[in-house]
Amino acid sequence: MSDAVSTAPDKDEFRARCRAFLDEHAVGMNLGGDADAGGTRRLEAGRKFQAALADAGLAGLTYPLEYGGQGLDKTYEKIWREEYANYPNMTFEFTISHGMCLPMLAEYGTDEQKAKYLADNIRGDKLWCQMFSEPGAGSDVASLQMKAERDGDTWVLNGQKVWTTLAHVSDYGVVIARTDPEVPKHAGISMFVVPMDTPGIEVRPIHQIDGGRHFNEVFFTDVSIPAENLLGEVNNGWNMATAMLMYERVAIGSGSTSGIQHERADALIEEAKKRGLIDDPTLRQKLMRIYAMETCQSLVSMRTRAEMQAGKTPGPGGSIGKLAGTMIMNYVRDVSMEIVGAGGVAWEGESGGGWARAALTGLQGGIAGGTNEIQKNIIGDRVLGLPRDISVDKGVPFKDLKVGTQTS
Ligand SMILES: Cc1cc2nc3c(=O)[nH]c(=O)nc-3n(C[C@H](O)[C@H](O)[C@H](O)COP(=O)(O)OP(=O)(O)OC[C@H]3O[C@@H](n4cnc5c(N)ncnc54)[C@H](O)[C@@H]3O)c2cc1C
Repeated sequence: MSDAVSTAPDKDEFRARCRAFLDEHAVGMNLGGDADAGGTRRLEAGRKFQAALADAGLAGLTYPLEYGGQGLDKTYEKIWREEYANYPNMTFEFTISHGMCLPMLAEYGTDEQKAKYLADNIRGDKLWCQMFSEPGAGSDVASLQMKAERDGDTWVLNGQKVWTTLAHVSDYGVVIARTDPEVPKHAGISMFVVPMDTPGIEVRPIHQIDGGRHFNEVFFTDVSIPAENLLGEVNNGWNMATAMLMYERVAIGSGSTSGIQHERADALIEEAKKRGLIDDPTLRQKLMRIYAMETCQSLVSMRTRAEMQAGKTPGPGGSIGKLAGTMIMNYVRDVSMEIVGAGGVAWEGESGGGWARAALTGLQGGIAGGTNEIQKNIIGDRVLGLPRDISVDKGVPFKDLKVGTQTS
């Protein structure tokens, strides 16, 4: 357990403590590529960092002391994020654990669930994954077919999930499954906590175009979990899934740091200098455009974070930051290829390999956490108040829909 502080520390002292901690511990994350295709070394470095953070009384700042947090208000988290923005991101592999599963457990968990899961999660001892997508249910995740059936004191889960980031190294997963096929699709879904070592779970890795192996197919065959692993109420899973997706979009789009950042513009400027291209006026314009786009995205993220600090659960506005991030990533990809030239097709070594890999990795940004088209739909109807998409399956019981492998 941490050296948790029991009274609110002086803010300047707290900032100095954060900085001193980061100076000492936020180092050595220059991993990636073939050297760490499965992300295992990056995860190990992240775990070490997170454990040290907990020992220093700086992990889970806004979560209650009794659950392994520090019991501080959100201004301290803001200070932490501002300082963390100046250092390498050591906690990338905890984006799902901390950015999505932790707030869900804290918001919807029973006291027993919080006591069981929060401290290990905060400390990074246990890693969590999110099991929503299925082969026939991605953008329209409410069409999911995985079944959860009550059997005495247990729930029995059968079906398949796909694209599950970090399932191969996770200890727990938050899963959504169909608990009532007789009602319309959004009304018959429930959310569960599943220990990933439960018999009947098979995790199969998916190899990515950039050489990485971060996500997986997960098959469930008669997976029996205790009834108390239900998170929230039976058949309220859709509302909770929506809440978790909002946290996801903020975690992806707004990152774990705060303040104005132009990391990609800085990296490209360095690359252009190295290659003697920095005086090219057309390229300079493009670099400035990236700088401006990153600045705007930072401001949007800061607004979203400020709303959360004011006590609001993240709303559809999180989609703006996520969409902006993808648009920047796409533009960075084009400009980076222009800078590295023919080296952009090279894979090994320094001739452009890093940028080639980044260009391929960047493609996932417009899909993971909801595609760009879905973000635009959300922004259109929930932020701008435009008319909603036509819904042809409204009011129809799930069992009567033709979705996934269900044909009648
Ligand atoms: C790197 C990565 C990590 C991921 N990690 C996870 C994870 O950890 N857990 C998890 O559950 N899932 C994860 N996913 C899955 C991700 O959430 C889905 O891939 C995503 O929601 C899209 O679903 P789909 O792949 O089934 O595409 P589809 O939904 O089949 O979409 C296909 C195309 O149709 C378009 N489309 C669909 N519906 C509409 C519409 N109504 N209006 C306009 N266009 C539409 C889409 O934009 C897309 O271009 C991950 C995906 C990636 C790429």
